[in-house]
Amino acid sequence: MRLLFTILFALAAMSAHAEDKSKTALVIHGGAGVIERNALSAADEKAIRADLDRALDAGNAILAKGGSALDAVEAVIVVLEDSPRFNAGKGAVFNAEGGHELDASIMEGHTRRAGAVAGVTTVRNPIKLARAVMERSKHVMLAGTGAEKFADTLPDIVRVPNTWFDTERRRKQLDDARAKKTTAIDVPGTYFGTVGAVALDQNGHIAAATSTGGMTNKRWSRIGDSPVIGAGTYADERCGVSGTGWGEFYIRAAVAHDICARVAYRGDAIAVAAEEVVNKVVPALGGDGGAIALDVDGNIAMPFNTSGMYRAWIKPDGSRGTAVFRDDE
Ligand code: ASP
Repeated sequence: MRLLFTILFALAAMSAHAEDKSKTALVIHGGAGVIERNALSAADEKAIRADLDRALDAGNAILAKGGSALDAVEAVIVVLEDSPRFNAGKGAVFNAEGGHELDASIMEGHTRRAGAVAGVTTVRNPIKLARAVMERSKHVMLAGTGAEKFADTLPDIVRVPNTWFDTERRRKQLDDARAKKTTAIDVPGTYFGTVGAVALDQNGHIAAATSTGGMTNKRWSRIGDSPVIGAGTYADERCGVSGTGWGEFYIRAAVAHDICARVAYRGDAIAVAAEEVVNKVVPALGGDGGAIALDVDGNIAMPFNTSGMYRAWIKPDGSRGTAVFRDDE
């Protein structure tokens, strides 16, 4: 009898494990910031949600066929970089010189491999170059002309003139910021659009990625949190995070790493860890923004302290959604 129970128990445990193993999850963001219902037209909202859905589909297609979390987050980011509606790749904000400097990073949790680029100007998809830094160089982070020179050695990295990233909407934001002598930090409504993704694959591996044009009217080769591993992006064996918000504060609070450290060292639930850092630690310093996070069981958290955050998800049970405003989930 006892043997029978032992065998039944072992079989049940094995099937639970097998079931667990095939679970995947994906959470993405298109930036946090001042997103008021009355300022976002129905047509724009529809188009943004459609882009988020396309990005989810691109990532999920990879996860569903057993592909890696790393491939999935890259695929998500490429869709959002190519959309003119987000502050990453095409549609990136303008800097003070009237050009674009793009930042991106990617990290694979179980190997802790990471790659990042900062201030690149001719790379159509900065996330692809960030991944190349991780996989095809001995480095973690390359910036400016050096990153461009590295891209010169990689025929598969597509290059574009800097003006290719231009959009009218972002130019108007620069004109407004110049007139008011501000950066996006001070101009409500211009401060969002960074993109990010975190995925859990069938092997239980996590990856995270973030890409941005930074802040409108930025000067002096300003670099935000997005390409900084541990600040804007982080992943380990149990947890992955991509942040969006006022980058200076995200760097100072090491936001992405702090969330995962709380999970690793204190055993915090991902929702508790993400909520505390985004809604307590960052505001206490004077910053704002949001983050997406997931854990190795596929639990998802999407806290933010701004009026909105473009976000979308597919949970392990297959349920999916997109959301913009606070009361939207
Ligand atoms: N965190 C980005 C930066 O500071 C901006 C954003 O998320 O909107 O460059």
